[in-house]
Amino acid sequence: MLDTASLINLLAQPQKIVITTHHKPDGDAMGSSLGLYNYLIQQGHHATVITPTDYPDFLMWMPGNENVIIYTDDTRKADTLINEATITFCLDFNALNRINEMGEVVRASKAYKVMIDHHLEPEDFDDYRFWNINACATTQLVHEFIVNVLNNKQLINADVATCLYTGIMTDSASFRLPNTTSAVHRAVADLIDAGAVNWRIHELVYNSASENRLRFLGHCLSNCLEVLPEYNTAIIAVNKADLEKFDVNTGDTEGIVNYALSMSSIRLAAFIVERKDKVKLSLRSKGEFPANDICKKYFSGGGHRNAAGGQSTESLQKVVDQFKLILPEYKKLLIQ
Ligand code: 5GP
Ligand code: MN
Repeated sequence: MLDTASLINLLAQPQKIVITTHHKPDGDAMGSSLGLYNYLIQQGHHATVITPTDYPDFLMWMPGNENVIIYTDDTRKADTLINEATITFCLDFNALNRINEMGEVVRASKAYKVMIDHHLEPEDFDDYRFWNINACATTQLVHEFIVNVLNNKQLINADVATCLYTGIMTDSASFRLPNTTSAVHRAVADLIDAGAVNWRIHELVYNSASENRLRFLGHCLSNCLEVLPEYNTAIIAVNKADLEKFDVNTGDTEGIVNYALSMSSIRLAAFIVERKDKVKLSLRSKGEFPANDICKKYFSGGGHRNAAGGQSTESLQKVVDQFKLILPEYKKLLIQ
């Protein structure tokens, strides 16, 4: 275990630091990792962001991105860095299976493990925890950690602010979800004052689609959307052949589930996609409906109440059928 004073003490000297985040990182995962990276390098630390897998092109512009190591591309170098690190920051995840095979390397390393996260039910692998499930994003927590724990608000420069803004924006669905509190807006205002160019970040993340991505979205909405009015639920199921046909890249499927949720009567939306080795589910819900409950109970996953994910090794059709069979159990909550 590590207390706050010892962590601050440790960070007072240059350290070898690894920052990692969950498999298939999203805006909050990359924003918190690179936000913390840009903070730490100002203090002379040797910091490296290592992601377990690749991540979408629309996140590849953030400051420090050029120095990110992808574990599956550079495993030997990453293993050396993890084994030599004195501190490993684990951001936006709280169970080591969320970083795939990298998890056991991190677990075995001697580094102090610092978890900053907002997901439910953390695994007990960390030495220091800055954790709050009410936070709208891990980037919100990294901001709080720098300002209130490390007392270094003045080190939030434009690079740090840009990354943190990106994560808060994406994880709060552009400041839309219920956990986008006034405190979040105050933090975001501080980030803009520190140099985050908000309109430019929106452009880079949301207006960077390829023609393929737009045509794929059209295909999903025209041909793959199924509405189940008796359950206020909508499903978009996409098979592997379609992913190939539209040349769908990492990240191209992100956000499509929100279109299904945008219908006024829909309380639960599922995007179910047949990947190379498994079927992946992305669930989104409105209000009190616990999307994470379904993912945890039936699809080896988890997440937040309104945004959760899971997977299955069954066929796409079987997973869709299974999902439909689960709905009666939740009917009361869905038709309220
Ligand atoms: P997405 O639908 O964007 O993949 O994931 C939505 C949310 O659910 C994210 O906060 C993500 O961290 C979480 N999530 C997605 N897949 C899994 C999973 O397999 N396990 C757990 N515990 N959380 C997941
Ligand atoms: Mn997050």
